[in-house]
Amino acid sequence: MHRLAMLLVAVATTASAQTNPVAQPSKLDTAWQARTRALFEQVIEIPTVAKRGEMPRMAKLIADQLKAAGIPAGDIHIMPHEGITGDQTVTMIARWRAERATKKPILILGHMDVVEAKRDDWSFDPFEFREEGGYFLGRGTADMKSGIVATTLALIKLKESGFRPNRDLILFFTGDEETAQVGALKGSTEWRNLTDAEFGLNADGGGGSYDRTGRPISFGMDAAEKTYQTYFLTARNPGGHSSRPRPDNAIYDLADALKKVQAHRFEPMLMDVTRAYFSERQKDEKGPLGDAMRRWLANPKDGAAADLIEASPLEVGRTRTRCVATMLDGGHADNALPQSARATVNCRIMPGVEPATVQTELQRLAGNAIEVKPDPSFIGKPTPVLPLLPHVVAAYTAAVQRLHGSSMRVIPNMTTGTTDANFFRSVGIPVFGADGGWGISPDDERAHGLDERIPVRAAYDNVLHWETMLRELAGN
Ligand SMILES: [Zn+2]
Repeated sequence: MHRLAMLLVAVATTASAQTNPVAQPSKLDTAWQARTRALFEQVIEIPTVAKRGEMPRMAKLIADQLKAAGIPAGDIHIMPHEGITGDQTVTMIARWRAERATKKPILILGHMDVVEAKRDDWSFDPFEFREEGGYFLGRGTADMKSGIVATTLALIKLKESGFRPNRDLILFFTGDEETAQVGALKGSTEWRNLTDAEFGLNADGGGGSYDRTGRPISFGMDAAEKTYQTYFLTARNPGGHSSRPRPDNAIYDLADALKKVQAHRFEPMLMDVTRAYFSERQKDEKGPLGDAMRRWLANPKDGAAADLIEASPLEVGRTRTRCVATMLDGGHADNALPQSARATVNCRIMPGVEPATVQTELQRLAGNAIEVKPDPSFIGKPTPVLPLLPHVVAAYTAAVQRLHGSSMRVIPNMTTGTTDANFFRSVGIPVFGADGGWGISPDDERAHGLDERIPVRAAYDNVLHWETMLRELAGN
């Protein structure tokens, strides 16, 4: 869904001149730079937007690279399926089999599809690959064809170097992540025999940033995701003529219920991932916000401390389930008493909490006169609280710091958005957003937007990043 949308935490500002990270050469050797550029160009120029029928071409291109590197055709599966109605897409699953596996496989996730880009809005053709001013440009450069290229080439580079993994490495590239996410749903259920793993590494998450002066900010490692669920709150009433108001009224009753939802605070919850996040974050905050973080870490039952944290725009949504009214619909004529009024309340639910529990809590707040029902068109998939695997965090941190130095921090993170990863988390496979892409914040945050780009060095670094991480996690 998105990358580089990481916490933009401004650390103490010193005006010292830093070297521009975009202008530094990549440590990837020039032969591999050329191979990376060539594959990147090919994949960017395939417009893998939903309903254009281009996904099989991209999947075949990747599959051909893997076959040429010696992955047997029988271990590569291109699975056709429908995405959103009328979109014939594919998911590609390829396995590099260990000669003697001593551990369960690692699943490497990515998506081949991109969000639509209109030629007229961009300053150049979004499906023409360009290099300009130290950047690669084109739709999908940041979200997330750089990750597809980097993971594919890292596997091939490892294979050519004679590396022997101690476990199977599985590439799982979907073709409808930006739309229906059917590939991830099937991948986590009916194709589980092809995808089962100890854990997943998602190239569509993680990533880092430098500020405009070239100072390292941080890399984020996405390790948990909230569950998305919308509810409808409906008040009904016999209505009547507006010249003769009744004591009860659908609009007032709904308004009363919404004010209670507004005032309500769900119970704060601290888990592995957010504990690690706030332990890092509090180091930047010397004032009241930092004090609240330290108090909450010491005592997760301290609701007042959690309230203070939650009130910060940088931290909103990280301490608890949040529900907010987003739409209203009610009444039918200006001279009639309303017969019904309905509010849409969108909730972002903490891992480990069932949407049914949130529904019960909303019902208790709204009272029996209000009907509370989940939106039937999208039933959220709850995820369990999964552990932050220390060896995975260590491998990601080592890969990041090898390329960016030890002053680049790595911060585990719970995202409030939704990606393919959650389908696997919901069946118990922990997934970590672990890409090595980076940019200048906020100038390079253009995923889904205009003139999308990634620093040339970041695209090359990303191959080394994945190679380093996989060597660590699948080496002997
Ligand atoms: Zn994405």
